[in-house]
Amino acid sequence: MDNKLELWYTENWTEDCKFSIKVNKHLHSEKTEYQQIDFFESDTFGTFFTLDGLMMVNEKDEFVYHDMISHIPLAVNPNIQRVLIIGGGDGGTAREISRYSHIEKIDMVEIDERVVRLSQQYLPITASKLDNDIRTNLYFEDGLAFVKNAESNYYDLILVDSTDPVGPGEGLFTFDFYSNCYRALSEDGILINQHESPYFDIYANEMMRAHTKIKETFPIAKVYQFHQPTYPSGHWLFGFASKKLDPIEDHKPDIWEKFNIKTKYYNSGLHKACFSLPTFVKEKLEDEGE
Ligand code: SAM
Repeated sequence: MDNKLELWYTENWTEDCKFSIKVNKHLHSEKTEYQQIDFFESDTFGTFFTLDGLMMVNEKDEFVYHDMISHIPLAVNPNIQRVLIIGGGDGGTAREISRYSHIEKIDMVEIDERVVRLSQQYLPITASKLDNDIRTNLYFEDGLAFVKNAESNYYDLILVDSTDPVGPGEGLFTFDFYSNCYRALSEDGILINQHESPYFDIYANEMMRAHTKIKETFPIAKVYQFHQPTYPSGHWLFGFASKKLDPIEDHKPDIWEKFNIKTKYYNSGLHKACFSLPTFVKEKLEDEGE
C-alpha cells in the first residue's frame, strides 16, 4: 500500500465538476485587500497561481491566452501605438504587446500590486517585460476608475485581461466601463476583453451579459474562441469590439507577417477560423443576457 502524502490543487468548475492538479509545492499564500493569492509548483503545468482559488496563469498553457489576447488586434490594426492593459498582473499580455517595436506606450492598470510582485518572483518569464521596457507604465489602481478619467480618443487598443466578474473584476463587465472604454479609444480603436466561456452555465451567463452590453456600446462586437486547457471546460472566449474595424474584413495578414513575431498558438489561418463559432455558442450570444 503506497501511503505517500499527495498534495492536490482543486478548482470547482461547477457544483459537481472539479479540476485537480497534483502539486509538488505550495510556494506562497497571501490575502491582500482584494483577493487570496496562492502560487504552486507542479510537474504538468509548472508554476501556477490562483486568485480566490481560481486558476489564473501557469507556465505551460499561458502562451495560448497571451497570444490570443495580443496578436489578433495587431493583425487588424498594425498601426496601434498606444495600448491600455486592464488587469494582466502576471505580465504575459504586456510581454506579448512589447514585442511590437512600433508601439509607443503600454499603460497597465492592475488593482493589486502583489499580483505583479509575486509574478515577478515566481513567474519571471511571464512577467519578464514589466520592469525593463521604458514604454510600460504600471498603475496600481482600479481599471474602472482609470478609464473613467482617461483622455478621450487616446488609446488605439484596450486589453481587458481581468478576472471573472466577481470581486474586483465585477466593475469591468459593466455598461459604465464599456462606454468609458469606447470614449477613451481612437477612431480605429479596438477593445479586446476576457469574455468568459460558453460551456458551463455559470460562465455562459456572464458571457451573454457581457456581450449584450458590449454590442449595445460598440457598432462592431464579435467573439472569438481558443482552447485553454486549465480554464473551466477548456473552451474560452475573447471579445473583439471596435468603432469601425472588422476583425475579418480588415484582417491584414501580410502586414502582420512582416512583423516577424514568432508565436506558438496564434497564426494568420487561425485568425479567421477562431471567429467561426459553434452553433450553440452563436445561439447563446444572440440571446439577450439578463
Ligand atoms: N488570464 C487570467 C484570466 O483570464 O482569468 C487573468 C489574468 S490577471 C491574473 C487578472 C488580473 O485582473 C488580476 O491580477 C486582478 O488583480 C486584476 N483585476 C481584477 N479586477 C481589477 C480591476 N477592477 N482593475 C484592475 N485590475 C483588476
